[in-house]
This record gives sequence, C-alpha cells and structure tokens, in this order.
Amino acid sequence: MSGSSPSMPELPEAEVTRRGLAPVVEGARIEQAVCTQPGRILRPAKDAAGFAATLAGRTVTSVERRGKHLLFALDDGTALDFGFGLWAEVLLVEAPPAELRGAALTFAGGPWTLCFGALALSSFRLGPHTPQPDPPPFDALDARLDGGLLGSLARPAVGLKAFLMDDRRLLGLGNGYSDEILWTARLHPRRLAGSLDDARWGELAGALRDVLTTAIAAGGEEAFLDPSGAPGRFSRPIHHHAGEPCPRCGHPLAGLVAGKRETDFCPACQAL
Ligand SMILES: [Zn+2]
Repeated sequence: MSGSSPSMPELPEAEVTRRGLAPVVEGARIEQAVCTQPGRILRPAKDAAGFAATLAGRTVTSVERRGKHLLFALDDGTALDFGFGLWAEVLLVEAPPAELRGAALTFAGGPWTLCFGALALSSFRLGPHTPQPDPPPFDALDARLDGGLLGSLARPAVGLKAFLMDDRRLLGLGNGYSDEILWTARLHPRRLAGSLDDARWGELAGALRDVLTTAIAAGGEEAFLDPSGAPGRFSRPIHHHAGEPCPRCGHPLAGLVAGKRETDFCPACQAL
C-alpha cells in the first residue's frame, strides 16, 4: 500500500490555503471573475454570469476559514464561500491559465490571479457575510475545545470515528485526519464515546489539536499544494497504511469500516 494516495483536503489544508492567500488577497480588488464550471456554483445557482457580475469590482476584506470552507469577505457585506469538497487546487498565479477549468479571480493593481482548479464536489456560494453561528458545530481547532467540552458534544452510543467526522458537532475533520487523531490518542475507531472517562477525553482533545497543528505547520499533507504550488510535508502515518507496521509498536496496521468509512488503525495500541 502507498501513502501517496490523494486524500480529501481537510481542516489543515484549508487553513494552509487561508494563510497563503490572506497576505495577497486581503485588501485587493477583484478586477474580473470567471467560472467555467457553473455546476459548481450553488448560489446564484449555476449562474456563471451572475457570479462574474457580482464579484467584479468588489474588494476582499478578509479571508476566513470555517471547517474546510474558505470565506472571502467582501466590501459590500457579502462573502464568497468556497468549499473544498473532495478535492481542489487553489493557487495564486501571476497570469491566468490559457485554458481555465474551474474559476479564477484576477486582482487589480498586481500580477495575481487566484485560480480554483481540479474541482471535485467543490462549491461556490455567494451571499451575505453572516457572523459565525453559535456552536455546535465547533471548528475542530476552536480554542475552547478541551476534553470536557469535546466529551459533552458526543452522544454516548456513537463510535469515536463517526463522532469526529460528524459535522453537526465538529467542523473540518474527514476520514484521514480522524484516523491519525485516534491513533495518536491510542483509541479504537469503534470505541463508544460513552466509555471514555475525563482523562481519555482530555487525551483525545490533545491529540486532535496536536495532529491538526502539526499538519498545518507542515503545510498540509503530501498530495496537497499550497497557494504557491508547494506540496505539503505531512506524511500520514496511519491512513492508507493498513498492512504496514505500526510506527509506534510494530504490529501490522489493520483496516475496518467505522463511521461508514474505510478506517485504518493499530489493533495492538488502539485495542478496543
Ligand atoms: Zn501500534
């Protein structure tokens, strides 16, 4: 098995993208907006002309992240919401590509075009820039998420893998990072949330933060490109490595289905 299989962008990749875009895009005025895949526009639905007309002339005031969505706040009180979906490449280039497949925002006064390409279930949505609603769901990097708060979000009878990926409770985690977080915390993916004591919830909250901040510091996972086109350096130790030795104890990693998703884990150090 190879660790190089592409995986869905999750919270770390969205945050790396936000950090790469913000210095260039914040305060910049959109000269032209183009979308050649109107099916990706959810609002105004499938309307590439409306997308172009609404964005042209607007200034981006800030780039925010909610889970694995980016919000480009605009100077008229609206925002462009971009969801990464299954896959997307968000790149800052000096000249727009001759053949665009996706969407591009060209900024005035500089050489920069922001290109959204390789879109797979990605989405664009234009609408009012609303304040973040009261949680839950909590962003998985919310500073308030200690063990006690994390534990209070989970229904007792839900498995931990399903809980971490439940976007009604936590935003930004998908299949890959959930496996890494549970391995780091030495918790079985199917273990029921109700079986954890306060200390174990504290360990899970710590693992959640450690894995996400480590992945962000590494520029995201290896198959991912940051806005400058540089690949990430975070090598997932567990996800897609079933059959290989556990990096911690040497026991062969195994796969199962948890939370309806293919899940990899170490049967020895994540015993049920
Ligand atoms: Zn192990």
